[in-house]
Amino acid sequence: MSVPILEIVDLHAAYGRIEVLRGVSLSVPRGAVMALLGPNGAGKSTLLKVVSGQMEQTSGDIHLAGVHVRGAKADDLARLGLTTVPEGRSVFPNLTVEENLLLMSYAGVEAYKVFDTAYSYFPRLHERRFQLAGTLSGGEQQMLAMARALSSDPALLLLDELSMGLAPLIVDELYETVGQIAQSGVSILVVEQFARTALKISDYAAVMTGGRIVATGEPDEINDIMADVILGGA
Ligand code: ATP
Repeated sequence: MSVPILEIVDLHAAYGRIEVLRGVSLSVPRGAVMALLGPNGAGKSTLLKVVSGQMEQTSGDIHLAGVHVRGAKADDLARLGLTTVPEGRSVFPNLTVEENLLLMSYAGVEAYKVFDTAYSYFPRLHERRFQLAGTLSGGEQQMLAMARALSSDPALLLLDELSMGLAPLIVDELYETVGQIAQSGVSILVVEQFARTALKISDYAAVMTGGRIVATGEPDEINDIMADVILGGA
C-alpha cells in the first residue's frame, strides 16, 4: 500500500488553555477525496489551520506524503504540495478575476498555465475575466479561490466549508468540479458542516465532534452516523 498523502497521529492543539483538538488521528489515502464532517465548533477549521501551518500543535504528528512536517510553515508545506482554500474565499475584491489569477503566477507558474487550468475547470470565470472579483457572486468567488489554489498544482487540496452561504444548486456544481479535480489525481480533504453534497463525491469520510474523530468510513456508513451526530446522539 502506498504512503498516505496525509497522516495525522494523536494531534492536540489549543487556544490558550482551551484544548480544541484532543487527540485527532486521521489518514487520507493518496488520490482519495475525504470529507471531514461535524457540527459547529467541533474543531474542523482548527484542524485545517494546524495541518496548513497556520497554527502550532501542542503535541502529535503530521506526515505529508511521508514527510514529518511538525513546525513547518505554510511556505514549506506549499513546496511539499499542500494548498488550502480557506473558509470565506479570500479573493482580492478590487482586482479583476484575471488579476487575481495572475497574482498566483509569482510562484514561477506561467500565466497561460494558470489561466488554462482555471478556465478549463471554471468556464464561468473566463466569461467574467475582466470583472472585479468583489462583484462576483458568492459561488463565482469560490470558483476563483479554487482556481487560484489549483494554479500551484497541489498534491493535496484542503477545502474549508466550500458550501458556506451558497445556494444548493451552486454547491452541487462546485462539488461536481471537485470530483473532476480529484479525477486528475489531486488528493482532497474537504471540511463541511453538512454532509449531503460532499459525501456524494467522497471516497471516505470522517466525523469530528468535541475535538476528536468519532467515526471514519465510506460515505454510506457515515451518512447514518451524521444523522445521529446532528440530532445530538453519537
Ligand atoms: P465551524 O463549522 O463552526 O467552523 P469548526 O468545527 O470548524 O466549526 P473550529 O472553528 O475549529 O470548529 O472551533 C473549535 C473551537 O475552538 C470552538 O469552540 C471555537 O469557539 C474555538 N475557537 C476557534 N477559533 C478560536 C480562536 N481564534 N480563539 C479562541 N477559540 C477559538
